[in-house]
Amino acid sequence: MTSFSCPHYDSNRDACERIGDFCVPGRPGCVLFGNSRFAVPWQQRLEAKRRDAETPPREPAVVRPGDGP
Ligand code: SF4
Repeated sequence: MTSFSCPHYDSNRDACERIGDFCVPGRPGCVLFGNSRFAVPWQQRLEAKRRDAETPPREPAVVRPGDGP
């Protein structure tokens, strides 16, 4: 197993500066396209990121004193 750090990755936006869209390693335009293998195809990972981006974050749970076990 190896690790990879991409110079095109913008961690603040989870975006690829090379493509101008979500970072999805192995997608067309990515430096890893065509030369790496992934357990989950890039199409599925891109779809999941687009779906997650459309879903507003959930409100954090409110915990009051006395709640819980
Ligand atoms: S999509 Fe590829 S080239 Fe772009 S930031 Fe992610 S790993 Fe790097």
